[in-house]
Amino acid sequence: MLPDDICPRPSDTPPLPTQPHAAPIQLTSVWQCADPDQADRMLSGATPGYVYQRDGHPNADQLTAKCAELHGAEQAVVTSSGMSALSAAVLSQLKTGDHVVVSGHLYGKTLSLFGGECSRLGIAATVVDTCDLSAVRAALTDRTRMIVVETIANPRLQVVDMAGLAEIASQHRITLLVDNTFATPYVCRPLELGAQLVMESLTKMMNGHSDVTLGLLCGRGLDWTRVRQVVSTWGLAAAPFDCWLASRGLATMALRMERACGTALRVAEFLSSRAEVERVDYPGLSAHPQHALAARQFGDRFGSIVTFHLPGGRDAATRFMHAARRIPFCPSLGELSTTLSHPESTSHRGLTAEQRAALGITGGTIRLSVGIESDGFVLDAIAEGLARAWERA
Ligand SMILES: *Cc1c(COP(=O)(O)O)cnc(C)c1O
Repeated sequence: MLPDDICPRPSDTPPLPTQPHAAPIQLTSVWQCADPDQADRMLSGATPGYVYQRDGHPNADQLTAKCAELHGAEQAVVTSSGMSALSAAVLSQLKTGDHVVVSGHLYGKTLSLFGGECSRLGIAATVVDTCDLSAVRAALTDRTRMIVVETIANPRLQVVDMAGLAEIASQHRITLLVDNTFATPYVCRPLELGAQLVMESLTKMMNGHSDVTLGLLCGRGLDWTRVRQVVSTWGLAAAPFDCWLASRGLATMALRMERACGTALRVAEFLSSRAEVERVDYPGLSAHPQHALAARQFGDRFGSIVTFHLPGGRDAATRFMHAARRIPFCPSLGELSTTLSHPESTSHRGLTAEQRAALGITGGTIRLSVGIESDGFVLDAIAEGLARAWERA
């Protein structure tokens, strides 16, 4: 054979007498079909099987099946990012002339999606405080098709009444879309509380290893054909290697969340006891405005994110970051290690000072993403930050 002719052929991958125990990564962009009839049947969805990666592949299906099970979902799809999962929800469920009611506490890019991108498509959005069910009801019009909320919002960690919102949505025959990224299915399963659509940024705790960007959209009682069409046609599909990594991360999600939620509660209690700290936001603290609701919805797990506010604005936050040497400043969340973020300079920098003030975000606001280290390590690292920051002041 000429060296020029060594390209992959079917004989390179004969069937094996034993099966690999760890899932193989199947990077192929295309699958060999037996004949036109087989290709036709598979592309029409009449028989299962793979033809072209953008329309589906084994690593995506393995990850999707696990995520669907975790959420008790009837339908699910994984996409190239959390934002593409939200885009799939918009493009499959909404059309020009529709109206959506969205939480004022949404992730910044989600607000841009509904406030900016959607308005270019002729889809109007009204922003309300979705913790207030009467405000949600008052914002509904006869064109409203969707309510969009986050289970636990960023960065103040407000908790929405999922069953209450689901009841409003069902009365008006509209879709409740929940971004469950801060909670994960370990803390909350919104579909079981009445939501029709749930998204997760798998980039965060679900994968948990800060090495992929992926999203999940799952649903209950919806026609999923449109979602599949949108993911393939708008090119939102997830890549095999990313799906493989996320399947591996997902296998330890419950263990990681169990550890991180436990430590986060101790961290929140510790910060509340410190004179240097002005205020602490954590749904597990009895001082949190929706603590009773959170306990009813979540049981005794309140997530791995803790937000606290230092008096003294950005200078105080900067001093703390320099002093807390073992906690890296990473403007994301849900990693193995404990990290911190600064909403004023990162996630909420697009807002005006007045808008940030209305959300209760100051220069001294710090959002901690608690990792899986021992609680002693995390508490010491924070105590070191507080002590050294003020000793320098
Ligand atoms: C990160 C995040 C997103 C967006 O997910 P990507 O995977 O970064 O696209 C959406 N919502 C929340 C709450 C997030 O934290």
